[in-house]
Amino acid sequence: MKITKLTLYRVPPRWMFLKIETDEGITGWGEPVIEGRARTVEAAVNELAEYLVGQDPTRINDLWQVMYRGGFYRGGAILMSAIAGIDQALWDIKGKALGVPVYELLGGRVRDKMKMYSWVGGDRPADVIEGILTLRDIGIHTFKLNGTEELGIVDTATAVDAAIARIAQIREAFGNTIEFGIDFHGRVAAPMAKVLLRELEPFRPLFVEEPVLAEQAEYYPRLAEHTSIPLAAGERMYSRFEFKHVFARGGIAIVQPDLSHAGGITECVKIAAMAEAYDVAFAPHCPLGPVALAACLQVDFVSHNAVLQEQSMGIHYNKGAELFDYVINREDFQIKDGYFPPLPKPGLGVIVDEERVIAASQNPPDWRNPVWRHPDGSVAEW
Ligand SMILES: [Mg+2]
Repeated sequence: MKITKLTLYRVPPRWMFLKIETDEGITGWGEPVIEGRARTVEAAVNELAEYLVGQDPTRINDLWQVMYRGGFYRGGAILMSAIAGIDQALWDIKGKALGVPVYELLGGRVRDKMKMYSWVGGDRPADVIEGILTLRDIGIHTFKLNGTEELGIVDTATAVDAAIARIAQIREAFGNTIEFGIDFHGRVAAPMAKVLLRELEPFRPLFVEEPVLAEQAEYYPRLAEHTSIPLAAGERMYSRFEFKHVFARGGIAIVQPDLSHAGGITECVKIAAMAEAYDVAFAPHCPLGPVALAACLQVDFVSHNAVLQEQSMGIHYNKGAELFDYVINREDFQIKDGYFPPLPKPGLGVIVDEERVIAASQNPPDWRNPVWRHPDGSVAEW
């Protein structure tokens, strides 16, 4: 079998799908994207295509190494996202060629169902109670919400009180009948992270995510010393070679590599294994589309330390399309009591509605995250 063609489709809300075709008629789908920089990743995939056309798609390990090492310069959000989406499509082809789901190729399932969680409350967290009530009605009991809006490097008692009040009302309304993680989203700098973590501790969140930015990772062990809340991070780390420093330093209880940003299935299954060796849980980041989610689930089902799967149903970014809009076999993703079942179909297990993808890719909007500013006019982390 030989790769014949790579085609990219930028689609709403902020996703990009890749179709890889072969001379045997088997096609694979991937989702290479960086939210807000889809066209940059598109250019990277088109450059990497030179290495792929004419090659045997089943030699995934070799093609991965060619894409990673073959260009001399490596790593980073753009290149590793391009490789990630290509890698997903290659696993999809291989699974379809052999007639089995990817988790069978990775040694078979370690669990029968995978726990998932939903976002509530949007970018500027409000109305979380309403959001939780609606989702609880359809059997979802685990949530994530943003911890704060923009926050100064050193901020006021009023800002701290607002953040804490938001979380307090959740425990007040629901007690321990639901669980939730809190995403600091890199909005919090080290001085305030210490303050907020201490104040949040009584509400026992499942985790605090990106307590500080990945580029301040030296703070993770220091913050972990000050709190019993499990700390999570990893959506802005792109390979084993970045994660190894986090594991070696300690402090992170949950790693959250993104299957569409960190080199795909081939790389993330290794990151999960490294995490297991350090007694660190694995919870793939996935505020993206259905192909990315399917890739995450493939790795979750073979990773003993996989604890939670993010997904983008109803997420505040999904303007213009929802998680399963481009999926034909929606029934395979049926959530039951807050769990995803293993996807039964060969390859990644998602049948992409190609007609709909092509139609949606005709004039897609370029999604951008907002640029926030502090009251003094300086740029704030979003
Ligand atoms: Mg996050």
